[in-house]
Amino acid sequence: MSPSGAEIIRQIREGVDEIDPADARDQLGNGAVLVDVRESEEFESGHIPGAQHVPRGYLESRIENAVPDRSQHVVLYCASGQRSALAAHTLSDLLGYEHVESLKGGITLWKDRGYEVAVPQTLSKEQRERYSRHLLIPEVGLDGQQKLLGAKVLLLGAGGLGAPAALYLAAAGVGTLGIVDDDEVDLSNLQRQVIHNTERIGVPKVDSAEETIQALNPDVKVVKHKTRLEASNIMELLEPYDIVVDGADNFPTRYLLNDASVRLRMPVVSASILGFDGQLSVFKPYEGPCYRCLYPVPPPAELAPSCGANGVLGVLPGVMGLLQATEVIKLIVEQGEPLVGRLLLYEALGATFTELKVRRDPECPICSRDPEEISDDEMGVFPDYEAFCEASG
Ligand SMILES: [Zn+2]
Repeated sequence: MSPSGAEIIRQIREGVDEIDPADARDQLGNGAVLVDVRESEEFESGHIPGAQHVPRGYLESRIENAVPDRSQHVVLYCASGQRSALAAHTLSDLLGYEHVESLKGGITLWKDRGYEVAVPQTLSKEQRERYSRHLLIPEVGLDGQQKLLGAKVLLLGAGGLGAPAALYLAAAGVGTLGIVDDDEVDLSNLQRQVIHNTERIGVPKVDSAEETIQALNPDVKVVKHKTRLEASNIMELLEPYDIVVDGADNFPTRYLLNDASVRLRMPVVSASILGFDGQLSVFKPYEGPCYRCLYPVPPPAELAPSCGANGVLGVLPGVMGLLQATEVIKLIVEQGEPLVGRLLLYEALGATFTELKVRRDPECPICSRDPEEISDDEMGVFPDYEAFCEASG
């Protein structure tokens, strides 16, 4: 009578070397290769960090890719130690691997001992559908979408630039959007600030923006900062974020933001608008110029938008805000050529885009020095702003 399956497994296991999780851990530090022989769904729901994945059903055909050297020390594991023992038998007895062990108790015992398990983030069924058009482009894909969901972006202002940028960043699945704005929605905003609406006139812009974003994409966490950006709070406000979207409408804030972001080595995606003209650049500290390299002194006061109400074509901040959102996404998914060291000028009446090279200024008062050297007193230093605006008449 032929032996039962259970009997064969017992015999095979007797002939296979088993290794205790603690010893396996030491061996991994000594260069042993760890191979997970479970099915794909099991691997994806959590595996031992650094493990290669070769499902047992593909062992003979794929192990040479994972472990080309047959003298290499290999530790195999599965859920409980049974499949890995059978796989170890195949590797040593049939494929000629010289030093093969099976992890005793599998990943179950490994976890019980409190050792580390990597649980890859996966998208829910709903997220796969929501972001399906991102998953179809390799530059984003699953990896990029997970980066977006894990990203923290701070928007300065939920106004002309911030409104369209926030809408598209939320739609794209940027996981955390902070919004700094102490203003309320005004009727005159609605010609361009599309995140707000007529019913919300008089409502704080951060609340209005949050409501629109939540309705668009519940994956996004909105952090509301109903305050003005000042030297006293800027470091604290910026610190939890990865990237800043600058939609500030005044020069003192831009200088302050620049100095703080250089200190924190945090990239700023900056845009400005006036009339039919827009400007855009990415200030990535120490990789490209900073705002002060580009504008060592503020432009003439009569051109300073914050000195009074200036006209702007309603669509223009939409164009520029979406170019900002595009740069933010590129930075997060680490694809393409960010607009670092380049100033993009858009002129809507002539329908022209022009690009200017901007270089780091070796004499720049801020980014020519190490971040630790920039003191609190120097941050946002700017000529007297009241006087500056008065000079413009
Ligand atoms: Zn600089």
